Amino acid sequence: MDCLFCGIIEGKIPSSPVWSDDYCYAFKDINPQAPVHVIVVPKAHIPSADRIYEGNSVYVAKIFEAIPKIAEKLDLGRGYRVITNIGEHGCQSVQHLHFHLLGGAQLPDRMN
Ligand code: AMP
Ligand code: ZN
Repeated sequence: MDCLFCGIIEGKIPSSPVWSDDYCYAFKDINPQAPVHVIVVPKAHIPSADRIYEGNSVYVAKIFEAIPKIAEKLDLGRGYRVITNIGEHGCQSVQHLHFHLLGGAQLPDRMN
């Protein structure tokens, strides 16, 4: 399987790390859409948020436990946004579940 984010998790593809624990890895987005733009991924290949079930939902729970710690580390106390794109109509470009963490400035009321 050829997955960009699995390659990043395994260290085969370089990234700028922000956070790592047993369940997730966070790194800087290569094309930031806000002053702070971090991608948070599970350390297991899950294709999207449309493919969460009882056997893998622990990764999502652990990611959402990590996100406030990542936000604190990145000084996002005034708020931030978490987004996941799903499938073609959702404009998902990498088929490994990921959450965009955006902040560092007042964000637009809507993203589109
Ligand atoms: P999405 O369009 O929701 O699938 O988001 C994929 C995100 O991954 C985009 O914001 C890209 O800028 C980002 N991205 C793609 N390749 C890399 C990379 N090598 N390192 C960091 N971020 C990346
Ligand atoms: Zn993957």
